[in-house]
Amino acid sequence: MAFIDGKTMLEQARTNGYGIGAFSAHNAETILAILEAAEEKQSPVMIQIGQKVIQTLGLKPMKDMLDSLAEDFTVPVCVHLDHSRQYEQTMKAIQLGFQSVMFDGSSLYFHENTKITKQVAAAARALGIGSEGEIGKIGGTEDDITVDEKDALITTTQEAVDFVNETEVDYLAVSIGTAHGIYRQTPNLRFERLEEISKAVQRPIVLHGGSDVPDEQVQRAISLGIAKINVDTELRQAYTQGLKSYMQEHPEDIVLANSLGAGRIKMKEKVKEKIDVFGSAGRANEFIAREKVVTL
Ligand SMILES: [Zn+2]
Repeated sequence: MAFIDGKTMLEQARTNGYGIGAFSAHNAETILAILEAAEEKQSPVMIQIGQKVIQTLGLKPMKDMLDSLAEDFTVPVCVHLDHSRQYEQTMKAIQLGFQSVMFDGSSLYFHENTKITKQVAAAARALGIGSEGEIGKIGGTEDDITVDEKDALITTTQEAVDFVNETEVDYLAVSIGTAHGIYRQTPNLRFERLEEISKAVQRPIVLHGGSDVPDEQVQRAISLGIAKINVDTELRQAYTQGLKSYMQEHPEDIVLANSLGAGRIKMKEKVKEKIDVFGSAGRANEFIAREKVVTL
């Protein structure tokens, strides 16, 4: 198993013009769905641990389970802490050996967001871990926090530049027209703004709310600087759909491994589809080659 820090993984993707899927995991089956899909596609992958699962299962148990399950796989994996709104939690994740952490201070005033993100980025950098910050407000619902559409703010280029200069964060989540959760209508990404921000900050850009964004839009966004695409909603839908269909077809079967396994199969298919859209299939060996160069 090759664990790769988020900065190395995303810079490699940005340089070579593809995107890394940052897929959310919620239990053992969803971790395996992501790992198996990545292995079959020979794709580098990010696995995100979000706030909901930390509330229910805990940060350390989830990380321990991930480390254990990942042992049998060969593709580069980066374990990422998603949307942490607590400085202490990001520090705990760094201590636990995450390869990437996100402090989300987008609901705070600019100077407060900047101050904490800078501290997180510095601590992460000291240990060779990647850091993500967010500027602008992404609409929709994430971890019980809802940002109304009218309050979603498209990130300006100036605030992105100021934020990156101040914090020295490794990659940047911006608000360019996507939303968390389920879309009421097809999103239209703000490509001009994305291109401008990407050129100005010269580091990987992160797209949140990647579920149900049309493939062509995602691919165009990747060509303009998006290197990390967060996907959660579509994966949960696939998982629960697999689970529900199995239970409907086999109402007497209470062997949980069967129904949970049906969800895992559906989710794995979805992850593979996303990997193809993002262009990261077959890229795992780039990291192996890179490691060899470093060793020499
Ligand atoms: Zn998000």
